[in-house]
Amino acid sequence: MAAVFPEAHTPLSVADPEVFALIEDEKKRQWKGIELIASENFTSLPVMEALGSCLTNKYSEGQPGARYYGGNENIDKIELLCKRRALEAFGLSADAWGVNVQPYSGSPANFAVYTALLQPHDRIMGLDLPSGGHLTHGYYTQGKKISATSIFFESLPYKLNPQTGLVDMDRLEEKAVEYRPKIIICGASAYPRDWDYKRFREIADKVGALLMVDMAHISGLVAAGTLSSPFDFADIVTTTTHKSLRGPRAGMIFFRRGPKPADRLLKGEAEGAAYDFEDRINFAVFPSLQGGPHNHQIGALAVALKYAASAEFKQYSAQVVENCRSMAKALLDRGYKLVTDGTDNHLILWDLRPEGVTGSKMEKACDLCHITLNKNAVVGDLSAMNPGGVRIGTPAMTSRGLKEEDFVQVAAFLHEVLEVCKEVQTSTGKAIKDFIKGLEGHPKIADIRSRVEAWAGQFPMPGFHVPAAASQ
Ligand code: PLP
Repeated sequence: MAAVFPEAHTPLSVADPEVFALIEDEKKRQWKGIELIASENFTSLPVMEALGSCLTNKYSEGQPGARYYGGNENIDKIELLCKRRALEAFGLSADAWGVNVQPYSGSPANFAVYTALLQPHDRIMGLDLPSGGHLTHGYYTQGKKISATSIFFESLPYKLNPQTGLVDMDRLEEKAVEYRPKIIICGASAYPRDWDYKRFREIADKVGALLMVDMAHISGLVAAGTLSSPFDFADIVTTTTHKSLRGPRAGMIFFRRGPKPADRLLKGEAEGAAYDFEDRINFAVFPSLQGGPHNHQIGALAVALKYAASAEFKQYSAQVVENCRSMAKALLDRGYKLVTDGTDNHLILWDLRPEGVTGSKMEKACDLCHITLNKNAVVGDLSAMNPGGVRIGTPAMTSRGLKEEDFVQVAAFLHEVLEVCKEVQTSTGKAIKDFIKGLEGHPKIADIRSRVEAWAGQFPMPGFHVPAAASQ
């Protein structure tokens, strides 16, 4: 069949060699490096096939069976399958829980919950960003509202206990009693421990708040049963799907449905009164905030959720945590300081202040050695702009098959990089510009980089084949 427009059937390599070459470079970067960003993962070939499929062509505003466009008979089946698999992956009954799989990503999912359940300027409480919370949990700085959550709603953050690095639950309770938020948000982007969901529920009940859990970082570990489940205690659970869950970039909102248990009835509600979240949340996602669902994401998410319910995924998630513990131990054995002295999950927060090196400097030095991680505030940091630590996660490299002993090697590489940082800083002084200059030409950096690339290149790469040309 003749092509109706020039690139209709042309492979990317021919149609647009410039973009093709950049994607090949990115493949090589992912394959040859050590990926330690705690919110990233390497998804699978079938997920990428669904993402790159004709599902991207279709408009389907509305819900399955009630669309604003025709031609949705296949899309309806895909979305219903995705929803069914989402409930199955988290062991939920469709009588007690519903799910919306249309949010484009985690931030829109969170904002849809607030849009559904709050009036403008209602009060919320989430974990402060410098304590590990996410922007969408209400972040603002002195004089500046940063997140739309803090622009449209009133936010009072709760924080970590500065001594322990754990969420200060007593202080949260005290603040909540005074502030009377409508929603308490439990969850974080940088917290190395599991959550006391029961206590969050008790506090929410005490002040008449809804409990929303944002499990974006840990949803894969929750699905696998490696971490405790928020579903016994939360009213609403949101998540991204591309982190520990290893799916495409997207978001989901789970909400309670059906009759409320007797202890959940509000004042004046009769026995048998039902939750009213479903219509409000669906309406907030569409038409309030979004237009047509991204059906290629929903199809790809259905594929990822099929595997999230498998025995192999349970093993993978258990390995993510074992690997993280192994890396934590290897760093502690070298005398380094970790926030909360370890981890229960997929990430650690390494406090670099005792080493005299900032998180930004360590991040930059690691980048030059082809190790990717990110600077992060650690408890007690005075400036969020110049954080004192780094966040290190294991989901991505565990997807490449690394085991506990491999993460001891990762810790050894990190130790070497830190030693170079200290050496360079001694000769250049602390100014970041001079420090970076000192790093760039340093022979030890080049040496670590070549060893990192040779080492990382041995591990298999999920999702794509590395072209022979890239291996030179
Ligand atoms: N919630 C948490 C806890 C996160 O860590 C993140 C992203 O890192 C999000 C929400 C937002 O997700 P997205 O970047 O997909 O909008």
